[in-house]
Amino acid sequence: MMNRKIITIGFCILATSLLTFSCKNTTTAAPQDKLVIPVDKAKFLNGGLAEPITIETRTLSDGSSADCYKIVVKSTPTDHAMGPWCPTNISDDASAGGIWLENGKVYDVDGAFVKNLAQFYKDSTWAMYNKATGAITKTKTEADCREAANPNVGEEYKNYCVECLPSYVANLSHTYYIPVRPKAAAKPYEFSKGPGGPGGPDGPEGHPKPDGERGPKPSHDSTPSTRGLAFNGIVFDAPAPTDRILGAYTLAPFDDAGGHINLNAGYHYHAATGLSTRIAQTDQHAAMIGYAMDGYGLYENTDSKGTDYKDLDALRGHYDSVRGYHYHVDKAGNNNFINGLRGEFAE
Ligand SMILES: [Zn+2]
Ligand SMILES: [Zn+2]
Repeated sequence: MMNRKIITIGFCILATSLLTFSCKNTTTAAPQDKLVIPVDKAKFLNGGLAEPITIETRTLSDGSSADCYKIVVKSTPTDHAMGPWCPTNISDDASAGGIWLENGKVYDVDGAFVKNLAQFYKDSTWAMYNKATGAITKTKTEADCREAANPNVGEEYKNYCVECLPSYVANLSHTYYIPVRPKAAAKPYEFSKGPGGPGGPDGPEGHPKPDGERGPKPSHDSTPSTRGLAFNGIVFDAPAPTDRILGAYTLAPFDDAGGHINLNAGYHYHAATGLSTRIAQTDQHAAMIGYAMDGYGLYENTDSKGTDYKDLDALRGHYDSVRGYHYHVDKAGNNNFINGLRGEFAE
């Protein structure tokens, strides 16, 4: 490596002096951390696993092979309840509904929120309740849940509060591979800006465009849309495509834990609100809430005193001498967890 660098630098100097324009050294080395913490599979709650975690050799995003944990999850949290999402009547209080994320803020989806949608979004098309009875128009069956999520959803689902119930996805399981030991990449994998990367489970929720038209291309063709896994086995997902959801005059609220259900993905998170299992730290550092898909730890947004971290990199990560490199997830209202992966991930 050193020899190659010297040769490259030498060539640059030679080329610069000969051709009088600058030569870019294209050799980028992966960051070397003093402390690298391997994934601790014992941190995953047994109740969330469809089978015991095993190790498999997998190909990583840099083409190398590495031991990865094979984690098969039930996509059903065992450490908190799911729902509710949509309130039933505009007179309902916050306990009857979930939350909505808009402009960095978390709003309770109570009856008043639904009643106020036309004002909230300054668009009189919003009318998600019966003016005579106050009943909120919401999906009631699995067929409704599927239809309201159909890319060609018809006018009949305009002004629906969309909620898919746990009973529709009771028999799902999903398999994830996470490198046992995080491996820093030479160049981080940034997630595409905006919601729903390719193959992301959020397609069916709102108004997904056909495959290949789903928002900006990610920096890496196969960058996962899944950001990471909570200790209960629930995925921290790509941002919910709220623009598409709202564009159809539907609302697909999250429950108080920041999750909701679609038929393909099952239950998944779009916000970390502190309800899934947290591992408190002894030094006031933010609690740990899971692992990113590259094996680095995921921690809450603020430290135990509620203070923001000011030294995060573009991915929302930083290094310390206790935890090695790790991420701090975004604020719940931002419909986002982290901005990319610093390490290689299993293909
Ligand atoms: Zn979603
Ligand atoms: Zn930290």
